[in-house]
Amino acid sequence: MADRLISGRERHASGSFDMGRTKKVGIAGRFGSRYGRKIRKTVIKTGSQKRFRCPSCMKLTLRRESAGIWTCSKCGTKLAGKAYKPE
Ligand SMILES: [Zn+2]
Repeated sequence: MADRLISGRERHASGSFDMGRTKKVGIAGRFGSRYGRKIRKTVIKTGSQKRFRCPSCMKLTLRRESAGIWTCSKCGTKLAGKAYKPE
């Protein structure tokens, strides 16, 4: 149930920002056609919408705060990880 709620919000977050113009690129739409397909894909994947499992409370609430810094919105755990994934 909780997981379904989260994925619903994710879908909205990666949407078109009410611009109604970006088709599938979502958050990377701001780049237009620049920087190449692969980089834009990485931006979509590593954007603020993706959540990982928190090692402390085991919930899917771990979010990337900045490169290498991960925070859990549930229990407030802050940990250092890799730039694009927590471990
Ligand atoms: Zn946690």
